[in-house]
Amino acid sequence: MKDINAEHPAAQPAPMDMFSRTISYLRLSLTDRCNLKCMYCVTEDEKNGCLVKLGQDELLTYEELLRVVRVSVGMGISKLRLTGGEPLVRNNIMHFIRHLAEIEGLDDIRITTNGVLLEKYAQGLFDAGVTKVNISLDTLQRDRFAEITGVDCFDRVWKGIETALEVGFSPVKLNMVVMRDINDDELPAFAELSRKMPLQIRFIEFMPIGTSTRWTRDTYMSSDEIKARFGALGELIPQEKQQADGPASVFKLGADAGGSLGFISPISHHFCDRCNRLRLTSEGRLRSCLLHDEETDLKSVLRAGCSDADIRETLLTAIRNKPKGHQMAERLKEDGGDCHGRMSRIGG
Ligand code: SAM
Repeated sequence: MKDINAEHPAAQPAPMDMFSRTISYLRLSLTDRCNLKCMYCVTEDEKNGCLVKLGQDELLTYEELLRVVRVSVGMGISKLRLTGGEPLVRNNIMHFIRHLAEIEGLDDIRITTNGVLLEKYAQGLFDAGVTKVNISLDTLQRDRFAEITGVDCFDRVWKGIETALEVGFSPVKLNMVVMRDINDDELPAFAELSRKMPLQIRFIEFMPIGTSTRWTRDTYMSSDEIKARFGALGELIPQEKQQADGPASVFKLGADAGGSLGFISPISHHFCDRCNRLRLTSEGRLRSCLLHDEETDLKSVLRAGCSDADIRETLLTAIRNKPKGHQMAERLKEDGGDCHGRMSRIGG
């Protein structure tokens, strides 16, 4: 592996897009492979064996990824999230993360995982300097977990969550995609969990994204509707906004709750005006808006023997092309509004 700090340019203020938003947050989808087959990510056919995955040479190598991150950090990007697919299934992931953590100026490395391998990796991630872990969990019921994800491993994920807490991650965030008539009956159970455990449980609106999504107008629930379900359970006390909350609005269910509840409303109350994100898909394409399919091909630039200045220019082009907003609520009223990118390649 190359010396990743070679040519490290002095950090600058993070770049701004055409709408005066500061872009300080890069999300890397490390692989489109996953050890689960969630119902909103894969179709029934794909689940039964015809899921086409990217070849090894289609993914960016760790050297390429480290180079992109080093250039990004030199441009002022300071926060990174590792996602996928499932980031922890990529070979030698800890080796990569340890090299990432050595990049000067990168003070915030986070990971989004399904938790299946977290019991094994939590301590190593914490020791390597990963600052926060988000774990996706759409149900607390073992049988339903198997139905939603296609794999009967709720207990392993739960052990992963416990291990993340034990090794010292704080807060540990759980992401629940709320889907009407699929898991919305569990909202009270998740709320109860937030009273008992120091978890931030985040309810995410189901988005119409991916060629195989099971999204329909009926399965979608807005954050307002989700939040209203908690009315009968106790007082929702708004919490002061922390930088780590990202776009979530956070509440505690009662003053003595050990954890909290977060609501993320990409559709009903979008946060496009303060979006600070740039995504790098697992096939090496820069995507400046989750819900717009326009992408900039960075992999071809990297593989054409480019300089760091070329990488910087490509990143800036993607930032300049970042749309003002996704207008998904309006698009849905007009034409269905779905996006065709695959969530496993984009990373969420
Ligand atoms: N494998 C990792 C995991 O499960 O957390 C990371 C990748 S996954 C694509 C990232 C996040 O996107 C997960 O929390 C998942 O629930 C969420 N997600 C996937 N499809 C979604 C959709 N259509 N709407 C909202 N969230 C979605």
